[in-house]
Amino acid sequence: MKLSLILAKHVTVVVTRVLIKVNKLQLMGELYFFSGKLTAHLQRSYIDIIKGTVMSEETIFSKIIRQEIPTPLLYQDELVSAFRDISPRVDSHILIVPNKHIATINDVTSEDELTLGRMITVAKKLAKEDGIDESGYRLIINCNSDGGQEVYHIHMHLLGGQPLGTMLSV
Ligand code: 5GP
Repeated sequence: MKLSLILAKHVTVVVTRVLIKVNKLQLMGELYFFSGKLTAHLQRSYIDIIKGTVMSEETIFSKIIRQEIPTPLLYQDELVSAFRDISPRVDSHILIVPNKHIATINDVTSEDELTLGRMITVAKKLAKEDGIDESGYRLIINCNSDGGQEVYHIHMHLLGGQPLGTMLSV
């Protein structure tokens, strides 16, 4: 774990404990209100740190994009990169990823629209190259835990090469 994360964790724990004590004293007025809000916020941050899902943190995908982890790239330009999923669920399973770290779809902004569009055109190109454009394929972007997101660097799954069945199996 990075030094800054460890430091952030300790500072968060100490401040959270102090604020919990302040809450326990049941001080009235603005201070109490403010500390309650801040406590809740810090507790959420602390949980994020523990879970290793701090949104600003890079994931393994950034290392693949920079080729610090050698993974064959199927495509790369100034906006996106693509590589095969390490654990393919179907015959053709490719991940298309923005080069910029964006944790979830909830974090995209209008500035990312070009990148998000590029992800689709690259998916189309790779589907053709993999010979699955005519038979068909599915594009999926998972978001957060209910969406089944495991890697907090947004990515589009390009899935095909066999019939994919119904859209969801819950
Ligand atoms: P998610 O569940 O977040 O939508 O999908 C993450 C995907 O990333 C999974 O399908 C998983 O197999 C894939 N993945 C996780 N780590 C690596 C890796 O180091 N290399 C590659 N190529 N794929 C990975």
